[in-house]
Formats: sequence, structure tokens, C-alpha cells
Amino acid sequence: MTPERPGCPTCEKAVPADGGFRPFCSSRCKMVDLGRWFQGKYFVPGESAFALDPEEFEEHVRRLEDNERAKQAEDGGDPEPDA
Ligand SMILES: [Zn+2]
Repeated sequence: MTPERPGCPTCEKAVPADGGFRPFCSSRCKMVDLGRWFQGKYFVPGESAFALDPEEFEEHVRRLEDNERAKQAEDGGDPEPDA
């Protein structure tokens, strides 16, 4: 009877029961997964979005999206018909 422990979501290696980065096997895998997640949503090179609270981060993303929209409006031509 071995309790089934899911492996690291990033590399699928077994995660040590006393690992400090569970469910990940290491901080590296944790960051890889977070990075993947954030890239799907928004990726800001050079900014440490990882250090933000989820709430702060959401506000941050909202602000960036507003900027993006304002920039597109400035450019005049919006290639994507996204009203
Ligand atoms: Zn891993």
C-alpha cells in the first residue's frame, strides 16, 4: 500500500515528501510552471511579476491591458475587429 503521490507537474519526477516546493520537485520546476502559466496570460520581460500578490498581479495585468488598448487606439488601425 503506497499512497499515490503525484509527481512534479513540470518534470513528472517523484516529489520528496518533505520537499519545500511541493507539488513541484524544486524551485526551478515551480518557476517553470508559473512562467508557463503567466506566459499564457501575460508575459512582462524584465518585470518580476512573480513577486506580486495574485490580487496585485491581476490589477497589474488589467493596467497593462488598458495600456495596450490605449496604444492600439493611438495607432488608429486595429487589425483585429475586436469591439
Ligand atoms: Zn520537477
